[in-house]
Amino acid sequence: MSDWEDEYDKHGVAIEKPAPKLSATNNTCLGKDSQGDGSVYSGLKSQTWSREPNEARVERRRDAFEFRSRRGETDRGGGPGDRRRGNEMSDGFQSLTFKVENMSIGRIIGRGGAKIRELEESSGARIKITRGDYDGEVSISGSSAAQQKARGMIEDLTAGGSSTYGRGRYSDGERFGGRAGTGGMNRNDSAWSKEAPQAASDSPTSSAIDWNDIRQNRKKFEELKWKDLPPLKKNFYTEAASVSMLTPDEVAAWRKENNNIFVDDIKEEGEKRPIPNPCRTFLEAFQPYPEIMENIERVGFVKPTPIQSQAWPVLLIGEDLIAIAQTGTGKTLAYLLPGFIHMDGQPVRRAERGGPGMLVLTPTRELALQIEAECSKYSFKGYKSICVYGGGDRRGQINLVKSGVDIVIATPGRLNDLQMNDLINLRSITYLVLDEADRMLDMGFEPQILKILLDIRPDRQTVMTSATWPTGVRRLAKSYLKNPMMVYVGTLDLAAVNTVQQTLEIVKEEEKKMYVFDFIRNMQPQDKVLIFVGKKITADDLSSDMSLQGIAVQCLHGDREQSSREEALRDFKESRVRILVATDLASRGLDVHDITHVFNYDFPRNIEEYVHRVGRTGRAGRSGAAVTLLTRDNWRMAAELISILERAGQDVPEDLVLMAERYEKHKMEREMYTPRGHGWGGRGGGGRRDGNDRGQNWRF
Ligand code: AMP
Repeated sequence: MSDWEDEYDKHGVAIEKPAPKLSATNNTCLGKDSQGDGSVYSGLKSQTWSREPNEARVERRRDAFEFRSRRGETDRGGGPGDRRRGNEMSDGFQSLTFKVENMSIGRIIGRGGAKIRELEESSGARIKITRGDYDGEVSISGSSAAQQKARGMIEDLTAGGSSTYGRGRYSDGERFGGRAGTGGMNRNDSAWSKEAPQAASDSPTSSAIDWNDIRQNRKKFEELKWKDLPPLKKNFYTEAASVSMLTPDEVAAWRKENNNIFVDDIKEEGEKRPIPNPCRTFLEAFQPYPEIMENIERVGFVKPTPIQSQAWPVLLIGEDLIAIAQTGTGKTLAYLLPGFIHMDGQPVRRAERGGPGMLVLTPTRELALQIEAECSKYSFKGYKSICVYGGGDRRGQINLVKSGVDIVIATPGRLNDLQMNDLINLRSITYLVLDEADRMLDMGFEPQILKILLDIRPDRQTVMTSATWPTGVRRLAKSYLKNPMMVYVGTLDLAAVNTVQQTLEIVKEEEKKMYVFDFIRNMQPQDKVLIFVGKKITADDLSSDMSLQGIAVQCLHGDREQSSREEALRDFKESRVRILVATDLASRGLDVHDITHVFNYDFPRNIEEYVHRVGRTGRAGRSGAAVTLLTRDNWRMAAELISILERAGQDVPEDLVLMAERYEKHKMEREMYTPRGHGWGGRGGGGRRDGNDRGQNWRF
């Protein structure tokens, strides 16, 4: 006789008895399932809802799936054969099993089992619930109609995302009843007999997922979703005669002279399209747009930067664009000005658009605020722009959005929040910018970006900027840009900063403070330094040390209140302080023209970040200097750093070369002496100790 049967009398009342002990053999055989809770509930035996010692629970769980007659017709035999008979006796119907989250089980059972009894009464089915590690299993027996009724009632009860009716198949119950030691406990491979899946798919009540159908529906839905939108206008370019007459050699020479700019058509199919010639003056790009010209003259720029010269004609003819450019190259203006013209030229007029026309997604609040400042500078046709970012005044941002804006500059998290709450209309957007795409991916914004993109019309014009071109960015570009052209400055993998004099010092960790204070003592009155540290606590620590010594300093990192962050930036920009200690929060987007020095107190977590940090100085045609402290812990970065320095035409210190060689040797030795197949010390394991792996204690 099974343990289960021993616990109930013929009226279904529980008989208290000590839990049976499992033998060592049983335990071994139970394997994974022996960890499970395995608590069992059935409406019939509602009094037995209990949490018992593990062994007893496991034993109980083995038997949890035996069918029991509600009205005492239980077969009282023992052994597997009897179990099978028990199942057949269930009105000739197989039981319906499905999963629910453990947290929903209470709702189905109700207080003292009242709910499950009620469910059984009204449906005429018998319900049994087994609690697992994460999900519970509901097993319903009875006629097909009764089963469906009970299932529907349970669905209603657990509505709200807690039920997981994945398979909804009928089980023959045979294997669930198997004994430990005969392989009966592993739910994954023993829940179904070989015939069960077939029976399930033949069953009229089967809920197997038809992916083809779903795909078709999705396509139809997509078509319907965008059906009523008016067509877009994308081409606004009139090539100036002076641009048309440039010969291919002249174009090639110009590109080479201008930061070796390179343009490519990365359309995947068909013939490559002709790449437009660069516009070497503002007039060549914007002659038909006097308001744009007035704005440029007002701000006093002399000529376009290389990225602007080449991006403007590509964007004005209406192509999607990927711009890989080093920091401070004028890429914001490269996408903003064509964006203004694009919005202004749409068939749907501004008043009827019903939402913003341009969206710029950007990774940090600082960058968002800066783009907005740049946007407001050009005040094209009175276009209103707003900045939407986490940490800012949410209500204020919502009110501004509602009041009607043309350009939204947003961080993905906050925009997604407004989108999910129907507080912003993204359907009106026809010009989209994914700014600093590599950084957005690094910061984990991909899911929010993808959700945002779902609501933006697919035939929009899209611009993506990135300082680097890693796999993630390529993937994003491939999925969300249509046949883009690509403009990049310098080499493809990493744009090196060549307007900055870069110096490196190999030091010990404990010497770093001495170096930084020495640097500060030697600062000239016009100098302005941005000191980068790896951790927020170091930023606090270093800036307090400086304050204690009477040095005027500000500190910027992600744990500071938004208002303090803004104040720190303002103080630094307006030169109330000439020293800013910051984490990598400030490595991008911080546009302070007169930073003369970048001081890398801690080496950044990767070489891309190094380029960004260094690019905070030497902006908009000025020169700058960067001092970087390296410790032995940073030796893994030495080789990449050498390559950056070489590409930027900088001196490479001998010590750095030696460091790279030592690391290479160490790596080879480690690989040679590490037995294969042992995780620790292998390629992946050892690297972490160098402290430069992404995400390790480096939060900003
Ligand atoms: P960005 O790379 O977009 O962050 O731009 C860096 C800085 O360069 C910004 O302050 C721009 O206002 C400035 N800038 C943009 N275009 C030009 C230009 N053609 N000439 C001089 N400065 C510019």
